[in-house]
Amino acid sequence: MMTNDLKRAVAAEPATTAQWLADLVRIPTVNPPGAAYADLVAWLDERCAALGLTRQVHRVPDAVTARVVGDAAWPRLNLVARWDVGAPRTVHFNAHYDVVPAAGPWRGGDPFVPYQAGGHLYGRGTSDMKAAIAALLTAIAGLRRAGRQPAANVECSFTCDEETGGELGAGYLVRQGAVQADAVVVCEGAAGAHLGCGHNGVLWLDVEILGKAAHAARPQLGVNAFEQMAAVTVGLDRYRRRLASARRSWTGPDGQRRSPTLTLGGVFGGGPGDKINTVPARAHFSLDRRLVPGESVATVESELRQAVDAAAGTARCRVRSLLRIDPCVVDPASGPVAAFGRAIRAVRRCQVQPRITAGFTDLHYFVVDAGLPGVGYGVRGAGAHGRDERVPLADVTQTAQVYAHFLLAGLD
Ligand SMILES: [Zn+2]
Repeated sequence: MMTNDLKRAVAAEPATTAQWLADLVRIPTVNPPGAAYADLVAWLDERCAALGLTRQVHRVPDAVTARVVGDAAWPRLNLVARWDVGAPRTVHFNAHYDVVPAAGPWRGGDPFVPYQAGGHLYGRGTSDMKAAIAALLTAIAGLRRAGRQPAANVECSFTCDEETGGELGAGYLVRQGAVQADAVVVCEGAAGAHLGCGHNGVLWLDVEILGKAAHAARPQLGVNAFEQMAAVTVGLDRYRRRLASARRSWTGPDGQRRSPTLTLGGVFGGGPGDKINTVPARAHFSLDRRLVPGESVATVESELRQAVDAAAGTARCRVRSLLRIDPCVVDPASGPVAAFGRAIRAVRRCQVQPRITAGFTDLHYFVVDAGLPGVGYGVRGAGAHGRDERVPLADVTQTAQVYAHFLLAGLD
């Protein structure tokens, strides 16, 4: 199995790993809008070439990008890199390279100018999830340096748009048949002693209330969309309370109970022509419904649309679905998942705990859509989607060692 020489080979050049991560942070792949993707893919293509991988860039056709995003001003690119060792089976590693926008004052100034302090590397996207990309490259470099071959062919995808649902990233590659593997590791969703065995699902809806404008001097001639929206949101509270019932909850492998949730009005607003002395003709608000394993997004969507209809009564409203992701769960005891768990235990010398994350990752594209066994595992960072995002560099190396161990030991 993993000999100490491989472990040492992976950890041999921590400065290179930190440099790679810093390089990645400096390319501001902010999504939305989906900036600098081409620069980042060019950087990865060069790194992967240096590691002896074959590469293919999958550029999403502009027409498809325009349909999903609204326009094609920012091209969507995904990179697939392979190390074919002639093994009968292939393992796929996926990492997304887009990051969420950065706001607020950061201790170090510019969030896209990385810096090190206290053994951590700071910068937007370090934790979510460029450190995992650096760890994956480090694992492959370590295997090369030690002269060891993985037990399975290695296929890596570096994908865009996870932060906006992944349809043109991991989703696009899976739909194109570009993922040719027997198991998948999505390089986020758990870390440390946790083995990522799935995630909750999510449904985003936009509810639009259509009223009728009128002069505020004669409001009786109009239909106030804002007031109707307020009534609809109050009406939805009944539905939200139903979600808390024990019948709806789900108990994870760690024994923790989890209930579905509903968040109203993450985004809300009026319409064009809003004015203080006008009865508002339009109001809209968002719904974020989190699904626990066992629920299906199709069922939940029809149930929630019914609840909106019931709450709306005679109000005219239009409901649009913005994001639909099924929950996904894998069996921690199944072949490749258990093998990955053993790799964590071997490197970190800890009791491994299965974990289902409350957020969502791209794992469902591989598990639900492509039907592959898969796990989520990456670097344990802090400040993701917030300020002063950072990762401990020691953890990047340890995660790389876990990847390398898993590759060497194989899928079962
Ligand atoms: Zn992420």
